[in-house]
Formats: sequence, C-alpha cells, structure tokens
Amino acid sequence: MSVDLNPTPRLLLGPGPSLVHPRVLRAMATPLVGHLDPDFVAILSDIRRMLRLVFRTENELTLAVSGTGTAAMEAALGNLIEPGDRMLACVQGYFGDRLAEMGRRYGADVERLEVPWGAAQDPAAIEAALARRPAKVVTLVHAETSTGVHQPEVAAIANACHRHGALLVLDAVTSLGGVPVEVDAWGVDVAYGAAQKSLSGPPGLSPITVGERARQAIARRTTLPPVFYFDLELLGRYWSDAPTYHHTAPISTAYGLREALRLALEEGLETRWARHARNAARLWDGLARLDLPLLVAPHLRLATLTTPRLPGSFDEAALRKRLLLDYRIEIAGGFGPLAGKVWRIGLMGESSRPEHVLTLLAALEELLRG
Ligand SMILES: *Cc1c(COP(=O)(O)O)cnc(C)c1O
Repeated sequence: MSVDLNPTPRLLLGPGPSLVHPRVLRAMATPLVGHLDPDFVAILSDIRRMLRLVFRTENELTLAVSGTGTAAMEAALGNLIEPGDRMLACVQGYFGDRLAEMGRRYGADVERLEVPWGAAQDPAAIEAALARRPAKVVTLVHAETSTGVHQPEVAAIANACHRHGALLVLDAVTSLGGVPVEVDAWGVDVAYGAAQKSLSGPPGLSPITVGERARQAIARRTTLPPVFYFDLELLGRYWSDAPTYHHTAPISTAYGLREALRLALEEGLETRWARHARNAARLWDGLARLDLPLLVAPHLRLATLTTPRLPGSFDEAALRKRLLLDYRIEIAGGFGPLAGKVWRIGLMGESSRPEHVLTLLAALEELLRG
C-alpha cells in the first residue's frame, strides 16, 4: 500500500501549470458521464462558445484538442502541412524553434527566420522573406515563454502573410487569457493555446481555432493528415451538436476547462488583461530593486512571463531549489542560450495576484540578501 496522495502545496510561479481556482478543482470532482452523453454534448457546446469569446473569433471550427499545448501544435501543423510544402518558421526562442522542428517532421521544406533570444520579429523582415520565397504556412509565437518576449504587430504580420498567399499559425499558449489575443481582428488563420497557462485550467485540453482560409487549405490536401488523433475535421465532427465518436474526451479535464473559461469571462477579458499588466509591473519594479534587470526591452515585455537576468554571482539552480523546498515557490530556469542566465517567472491566470508577487519578492530578498 502506498500513502495517501498528498503533494506539497506550491505557489506556482513558473511557465505553467498555473494555480487553479477552487471552483475548477470542484468542477473536476463532478461525477463522470460518457463522452457522447447529451449532458456532455451540452458541456462541449459551452466550451466551444466560451472559447470563441476568449479567442475573439467567430470561427466555426473552434475546439479543444486532447493533450497539452504540444498536442495543439501537432494539430495545427499536422493538418496544414503536406510533404514538400514550404513553411516559414519565425524563431525567436525555444517554442519558435520547436515549431520549425515539427514542420520538418511533417515533411515541410522549412526556412527559419531567426532573431536573437530576447528580441521580437519584425513584420517587414517576414514580408521580405515571403517575397523572396513564398510559403504556405508561417509560424509565429505570440508569447515566447522561453524569453518573455511579447510579439507585437501580429495584425501587420498576418496582413503580410496574406499578401503573399501564406497562412499564419499563431502560438498563443502563454498569451491566451492573460494578454490580448484578437484572432478575427488580427486575421490569424490558426491560433492555439493550452488550458494550464493563462487560462488557469487543468493541463490536458488545448484550445485551437481554425479560420476559413485554413479550413480551405486543409480541404485541398491531397493526402489525409498523418495523425488520426489530431485530424481537425474529424475532431470538428465530434465537437458538434451531433457528435460522432472520434476518441474519448478527457471528461474531468473538460469540466475543469469549462469552469476556468467561466471564471475568465466572469472577470471579463479586459479586466483580466489589466490585472496581468498591473501585477507584472509590480514584479518588474521589485526585481529592479533586487538588482535583477530584465532581459527584455520594456516595450516587448510579456505580462505573463518575466525573465530577470542573473548576475552570475550565485548558484541560480541551488537558489531555485531552496525557493521550492524552503518557500514552496516554483519558478523556472532559462534554457537553450539562456540557461543559467535568466529565471522564468510566470504570473498567469490565478497565479497573477499581488499577494503572490509580494511573497515571491520577499522570499527572493531573504535568499539573495539574507
Ligand atoms: C508551454 C508552451 C507550449 C507547449 O505546451 P505544453 O502544454 O507544455 O505541451 C507551446 N508553446 C508555448 C509558447 C508554450 O509556452
């Protein structure tokens, strides 16, 4: 016999998962029904309706893929890319790089447009790259969780893509629910998120929305999407008012996501974005007082993820471990070229509260100055 389940309570201030509201936890304890039960069909319909509001879209094909954000990445690229298609991957950090790698695995002929980690993409450079070499798909990360950069001018980038006949796939995993994401107003063709970041839901379902242009591109495929599990047209038939079986939806996770979406919409998206901006500003001020300057220039800073630069005068991994074990606060280290050089502090969804910012700053002050 093993002991009762009792993980240590943690203040989750890393790149996800974020803290969830008790209402989400209670929703997840609701008795199971079947994935084709009429009551569950109504729940799927609630989720679709609320996802359209959160994505700010009227796209019919809007649903949540089973799996974490990575599953939504697979769904986006696996449905759009056929072997030999050209893809332009905008790479300014780990997740942009991962999209390039995924495109390659689906057989795309991938060109990488790279900027240094900590910088953002320039719409004119994307347009110039497409003018030189057209592409079917352009991938862009809106909130690069590896660097803390908030990509501006997504609408201008979408326009540039469309002028050159390309579709824009936007990774909104860390932005959705925390900072403005405007799928229709910006003209984004496919956008996806994840429940457990700024939406503060349980990991395991990942929102995705597919616009008309992208649906037509999928319909024009000469081969079927290679992964049955992520076939968006089949998933769309399940996420409908008359669902046909595709795979068993994660019932409890759907309960949790539904409640998380309800909470986000009760708060109001604008109010929620303002809360994230306010708490991030407070964190940035406090880090400056601790002599931890930020990696990212002020106009590109992401409210949901902050990357203080480390002076190199202390063992950052040991300090993070003490923060976790002695103070029960989770933050993350940097990776790739930023390993050992930055921390990654997430203020996403329920984690973005002034009292959490104060707790973290006080703990860091004790650890660094104590
Ligand atoms: C976390 C993250 C992902 C991947 O999500 P998982 O839920 O870890 O699978 C993708 N893109 C970005 C920008 C992320 O932050």
